[in-house]
Amino acid sequence: MTDPNAGGAGSAARRAELAANLAALNTRIAAACASTGRSLTELTLIAVTKTFPSSDIDLLVELGIADIGENRDQEASRKVDELTATWREPAHRRIRWHFIGALQTNKAASVARYAALVHSVDRLRLVDALATAAERRATPLRCLVQVNLDLTPARGRAGAMPDEVAALAAAIAAAPSLELAGVMAVAPLGGDANQAFERLATVAQAVQRDHPQAAVISAGMSGDLEQAVANGATHLRVGAALLGSRAHAG
Ligand SMILES: *Cc1c(COP(=O)(O)O)cnc(C)c1O
Repeated sequence: MTDPNAGGAGSAARRAELAANLAALNTRIAAACASTGRSLTELTLIAVTKTFPSSDIDLLVELGIADIGENRDQEASRKVDELTATWREPAHRRIRWHFIGALQTNKAASVARYAALVHSVDRLRLVDALATAAERRATPLRCLVQVNLDLTPARGRAGAMPDEVAALAAAIAAAPSLELAGVMAVAPLGGDANQAFERLATVAQAVQRDHPQAAVISAGMSGDLEQAVANGATHLRVGAALLGSRAHAG
C-alpha cells in the first residue's frame, strides 16, 4: 500500500523535501543546458525511485514528474499495482514507467505490461523475449540498446559492446511489436564520464544513420548529468539527487 499517513505531517515534510530537491535539480539541469547551448525542451527527466516507496512516486507526480524509472521488475510491478489501486488524479494514469535495470528473459512478459520504454536491451535473446511479450500490447514497446562504455574488458558490466549495437538495433527495428527508440548507457565507475558519453554519442549517431527515428540518448545520473547534457543526452535518469541517498546499493 502507499503510505497510510499520506496527507499527514510526515507526508508534508517529505513533499517539501522532494520539492526542494526537484527545484535544485532543475536549476542544475537549466545551467547545464545554458552552458552547452541546449534547450530544456530536449530533455526528459526520469525520477529513479528504486528502493523508495510508492508514496514518493505519488508526491513526485503531484510535483509534476511524469517519468518514473525502476530497475527491478518485482519492485516495479508492485509499485505499479499499488499506484493503480490508489490513483486519485488523472496525472497518475499518465505515468510513463521506464525499466532501466538488468532484465532477465523470464521477466520480459511482466515488464511489457507496464513499461513505456525499456532502456536495458543488451542481447538478442532479450529482443526475442520482449518481442513475443509485446505482441499482447496495444502499442509497440519502445526499446533502447544499452551500450557498454567500459573499455576494461570482461568487467562484467551491463550493456552490449559497441560493435554489437547495430545488430541489436536492427533486430529491435525488425520486430513489429517493438520500436527502436535509441541508446542508453551508464558511465563506467571511476572513469571519465565526459569521454564515456562522447563515445555513446558516436554510437547513437551510427544507430540514427540506419534508424533516423531512434533519437533517444538515455545518459546521465545524479553524479554526471552535466557531462551527459554536454554530449547530447535526451533522457536523464536521476535517483539520489531527487530522492536522497539509498539505504542499500540498488
Ligand atoms: C540507480 C540508477 C540510476 C540513478 O542513479 P543516481 O546516482 O541515484 O542518480 C540511473 N540509471 C540506472 C541504470 C540506475 O540503476
